Amino acid sequence: MERYDVAVIGAGPAGSMAAKKAAEGGADVVIFEEHPRAGWPVQCAGLFGVRALEESELPPAKFVIRPVRGAMFISPGGVQIAFKSQEVKAWVVDRRIFDRALLAEAARSGAEVMIRSPVTGLVREGDRSVLKVGHSVDRQNIEARVVISAEGAGARIARSAGIDPVREILSSAQVELPFEIEDPEMVEVFLGRDVAPGFFAWAIPASEGVARVGLSCRNNACPYLKRLLKSPLIRSRIRGGPLHLVVGGLPLGPHASTVAEGIIAVGDAAGQVKPTSGGGIYPGLVCAKIAGKVAASAAREGDASATRLSEYERRWRSELGRELRLGMIVHRMRACMNDRELDDLVRLLADRDDLIRMIEEEGDIDRPSRAIKKAAPRMGLFGLSMVKILLRNYRTLK
Ligand SMILES: Cc1cc2nc3c(=O)[nH]c(=O)nc-3n(C[C@H](O)[C@H](O)[C@H](O)COP(=O)(O)OP(=O)(O)OC[C@H]3O[C@@H](n4cnc5c(N)ncnc54)[C@H](O)[C@@H]3O)c2cc1C
Repeated sequence: MERYDVAVIGAGPAGSMAAKKAAEGGADVVIFEEHPRAGWPVQCAGLFGVRALEESELPPAKFVIRPVRGAMFISPGGVQIAFKSQEVKAWVVDRRIFDRALLAEAARSGAEVMIRSPVTGLVREGDRSVLKVGHSVDRQNIEARVVISAEGAGARIARSAGIDPVREILSSAQVELPFEIEDPEMVEVFLGRDVAPGFFAWAIPASEGVARVGLSCRNNACPYLKRLLKSPLIRSRIRGGPLHLVVGGLPLGPHASTVAEGIIAVGDAAGQVKPTSGGGIYPGLVCAKIAGKVAASAAREGDASATRLSEYERRWRSELGRELRLGMIVHRMRACMNDRELDDLVRLLADRDDLIRMIEEEGDIDRPSRAIKKAAPRMGLFGLSMVKILLRNYRTLK
């Protein structure tokens, strides 16, 4: 049986980054990907905050499509509010190329890459884990000291090893299609219970004359996407049939523990997604770096107990735990607002030039808590409305 210090399940961004860091830490690393290549099928709108790109440690040239400087929010009743900065706030990227570039970096650092290799089972034998890889005649057993589950939202292996599921999984659907783009440096965000119950819909400019139009919501997203594409908001701007359809789950809210005996969960498998925007690349990469480093040290010490691996838990929560918790509160508040409250809030904010300027300057899609904290003392009527909503929904938000 082949033996490794660290085995990573899944060659998405979190898995490739964890494998790279574990290999850089001196571990003997293998990474398994069930598909024939990394980055496919794409399950992403490809909007990365500037910090996400920095965390990737990749030169942006190959996969960046365009810069984004702001966002336009459209309330259910059609009230609009725009935030546009002088600075680049985010990038629209090609996830296929991005994921492949990250995996190539992991391989360059020494990780062994095994594609078309689904991990179908995991058992703990003494102080090691045995992974079952492949199906029927091709099946082989691989031994590893530490396993990193970077399986994405489903995380079947992590669950079977005792890591709890995330708190909530939203359904998401998106099409890429020829579209009349109003401002190629702005994304559009559509709010409302009829549009996307519990979350929001988006139109993101991609390559010339093409946009990614999609949504995430509590219910099955596909019927909502069909309805969005037929709505007056969108229909008149469509210039051709869909080029690419994306469907997937968006996991929100990590559970109390993201480690168990011999295993660490990272990225979507651990619910490390920003509940405000649904962005998982930035938190996934930050946590994957910690996961890779801790896994390499634990393997070197010959101790893959849950107690040893809890260093990962402590470190990622001190880096991002508060951000994700605050994000979850904001997400739940938004989810329980009715359309009238959403209209009122957008209208109140639209009248506050000072707050809009502050958000344009300080707004950070990867660390939204910073702008929220800065704006809180200056919110006035807008803040009062938020407090009323908080009180009305106190039970749901807990
Ligand atoms: C519609 C949609 C739009 C999104 N838009 C954005 C966005 O604009 N910006 C952003 O930051 N985030 C976005 N996200 C979230 C983002 O896509 C995820 O957070 C991110 O892909 C998570 O990375 P990951 O490496 O944890 O998991 P994944 O990218 O899901 O990778 C998991 C990998 O594991 C492999 N795998 C799974 N099980 C096994 C197994 N048993 N054996 C072997 N391989 C296995 C899978 O094939 C896959 O390659 C979006 C999500 C959705 C659904």
